[in-house]
Amino acid sequence: MARHREAVCRLCRREGQKLFLKGLRCFTEKCAIEKRNFVPGQHGQARRAKMVGYGVQLREKQKMKRTYGLLERQFRTYFEKAERAQGPTGSNLFVMLERRLDNVIYRMGVASSRSQARQFVLHGHVRVKGHKVNIPSYLVHVGDDIMVKEKLHQNPMVLEARNLAQSQGQMPWLEIDRENCKARVISMPRREDVQTPLVNEQLIVELYSK
Ligand code: SF4
Repeated sequence: MARHREAVCRLCRREGQKLFLKGLRCFTEKCAIEKRNFVPGQHGQARRAKMVGYGVQLREKQKMKRTYGLLERQFRTYFEKAERAQGPTGSNLFVMLERRLDNVIYRMGVASSRSQARQFVLHGHVRVKGHKVNIPSYLVHVGDDIMVKEKLHQNPMVLEARNLAQSQGQMPWLEIDRENCKARVISMPRREDVQTPLVNEQLIVELYSK
């Protein structure tokens, strides 16, 4: 399965803001954005050129794509589905990405990053409505019960993620039982429920509409 193999902190540095791709480290002074917030590469320390038009739209798209850990093809497919669905395309896109199973595991506070959540799903630690689901892109529905295998409950990575999640508040669309690594989807996520690094989805719509 294709995935991003570069050092992920470079992605944040390219966007010039934290995308929270590395769990606990993102909240410490070891974060690359705290230490060297300039574009990676030989000319990275040169002043950032002021972007307009296409450049701004492209950066917004990259930011969102990288936040959810997707490759271009996958992201484009989500966009096309969002376009076909009823309602504003940008909001539909956010809602669809939020419903991904790896994102839900991350939001539950079981994993400290979406890539770690993806690993848990791929390794068969996650059940939806009592059935094992090992597809990170599975879209959850209202009424789905999601749980993580008991043997993972006291795993140090899960405990660390749980501590981290305490400070990040609740998701109004999820009923989360952090102690037992369980959650129920009580409604569809709304755009305003989505707490990701600041993204202007309208610019992404404009980019793909060219
Ligand atoms: Fe790296 Fe996280 Fe900081 Fe991004 S926010 S630069 S992933 S430590």
